[in-house]
Amino acid sequence: MTPPSNEPQRIVLIGDPVAHSLSPHFQQPAFDALNINVRYELAQTSTSELPRRMQQLRDGLFAGANVTIPHKEAVFAMMDRVSLIAQRAGAVNTIVLDGDELFGDNTDVHGFSSSLDDIDFTFESQHAVILGAGGAARGVAVALLEAGIGSLTILNRTVSRAESIAATLDDARISTASVDDARQKCIGAHMLVNATALGWHDDLPVDRDVFAILSPNAIAYDLTYRETPFLTAARAAGLATVDGLAMLVHQGARSFELWTGRQAPLDVMWQAAVAERVARSDRGD
Ligand code: NAP
Repeated sequence: MTPPSNEPQRIVLIGDPVAHSLSPHFQQPAFDALNINVRYELAQTSTSELPRRMQQLRDGLFAGANVTIPHKEAVFAMMDRVSLIAQRAGAVNTIVLDGDELFGDNTDVHGFSSSLDDIDFTFESQHAVILGAGGAARGVAVALLEAGIGSLTILNRTVSRAESIAATLDDARISTASVDDARQKCIGAHMLVNATALGWHDDLPVDRDVFAILSPNAIAYDLTYRETPFLTAARAAGLATVDGLAMLVHQGARSFELWTGRQAPLDVMWQAAVAERVARSDRGD
């Protein structure tokens, strides 16, 4: 990526809402650390504004984008080309302007897998449950299947969305149900992933007693990158927990590499993300 003038190129985060995002707080330091003349901006975008946003990308107003809640599946359908992994997930979280074409990729898959690299978890013969069936759940499902998970249940408020993921992935290890059936479907599960948007609203995605019926060695993973009732309840039940910060930084690093062709300064990104999270916690955000 070479800026045509002294004006910084713009890379945007497209979503609704986006104001809470940590991404600018670690993407901008990464661009600055490598002296890349890019400004990473928030682009609050409603569903009806998505086509206009895609046109702005095609017109070169932005050099690339991240995509977040709730647009990952809608944007997938608006790409000229997508990576194999985005095709498999049916969701896009990173857009690169390639000539006048929009290329979509899904770095959530890499982010989720990388976040588990340092954790002692055997995927084979294990049962995982994903709560939620939006764009993020798609990436998590692909990552778990590729890692060799024994079986995977996707529970969602809107069951048809979970069924849609199962249809896209077409894998005999996947089953789906309503989140209302969590008490039955989570019995003995080895991993429970909260991929709903509820972490931002201080609500629990399942009844508190669900944590007690998981395997005692289970991991409770919340994609939200702050302390949530889900994580608090899981710890109270004696479970190991993982929050979404490592996934966020790893997906962002892979996006950075797609936009720039340069190796992401992972340490810079990680330190900046942690610092911003601490600052928010101190402010009570
Ligand atoms: P999305 O496509 O909008 O999907 C939202 C999901 O949350 C759907 O399953 C939705 O269920 C469920 N949900 C929303 N409100 C609910 C409610 N009141 N009760 C029950 N379920 C509800 O969003 P997304 O892109 O998948 O993102 C989901 C979460 O993952 C967000 O918190 C996002 O910040 C997080 N995330 C984190 C990372 C990371 O790197 N750490 C990466 C990606 C996403 P319905 O289908 O029934 O509406």
